[in-house]
Amino acid sequence: MPPCIPLLFRRRSLFVLLAACGLGAAGIALADVTPLTNRQCTLMQENQVMSATNPVPCERLALVTFSYRDFSGKQHDDGSVVVLDAVAPQVQEIFAELLERKFPLQRAQPMEVYHGDDEASMIHNNSSAFNGRPITGGGAWSKHAYGVAIDINPVQNPYIGKDASGQTMVLPSAASAYISRKVRPGMSEQVLEIFFRHGFLIWGGYWKQPIDYQHFEIGSRDFIARLLALPKNEARAEFASYAQGYGACMQRSDMLTMPSLDTRRKACAGQSKR
Ligand SMILES: [Zn+2]
Repeated sequence: MPPCIPLLFRRRSLFVLLAACGLGAAGIALADVTPLTNRQCTLMQENQVMSATNPVPCERLALVTFSYRDFSGKQHDDGSVVVLDAVAPQVQEIFAELLERKFPLQRAQPMEVYHGDDEASMIHNNSSAFNGRPITGGGAWSKHAYGVAIDINPVQNPYIGKDASGQTMVLPSAASAYISRKVRPGMSEQVLEIFFRHGFLIWGGYWKQPIDYQHFEIGSRDFIARLLALPKNEARAEFASYAQGYGACMQRSDMLTMPSLDTRRKACAGQSKR
């Protein structure tokens, strides 16, 4: 039987499924994918989340709304992220699986709340996706500016880079206890498989400099350009096929002989990205 939460989203026999999922009336999980309205686009522009030169036009962005559990186990129904339309169905599935897995998220508020300030969002331990900004510490567009990167729980999953004088920089600063990756709730290592299986095959925790434990993205830039060149429905089919490549790799006989599940996941994520 498919996971109960995605079925809920399809609104089939709601009460039967609620019982099957062990959810009471107060625990109804919400999730949806909708194109951004003109008003939402204007708000993003007014709040420095999107500039006039953004590499993806607002019409190609979608709002994914979802329920999530916080670190005390309380369910919230106000989660939202903005992503490229081509990847929105997979992002919806990712957050549904995080909820089903009881993986905690502190909050997931729109970047307008933070006026596009990534550091403010990180300090607030906010999970987010689209933000029309350059790479941290660099000039090129971040993959967040294409809506194809997601950051989760920055406090549990810090960014570790170098500042202008070459000193180690941990963002947010309150995250220093999580430089050590001894597994605790809310850490990315617990959910790599969920992101990989849905096409977010690049994890910043595998990088050497900077290390970005909160960050998942799709790749390569050529592949993103291809998704943008295709109409929405064709781009969705193309991305679905990209995501399926990881699952196929994980079942390959040469991969099944890998010494551990972790090494198999890392190898398949690396091989499956285009
Ligand atoms: Zn990021």
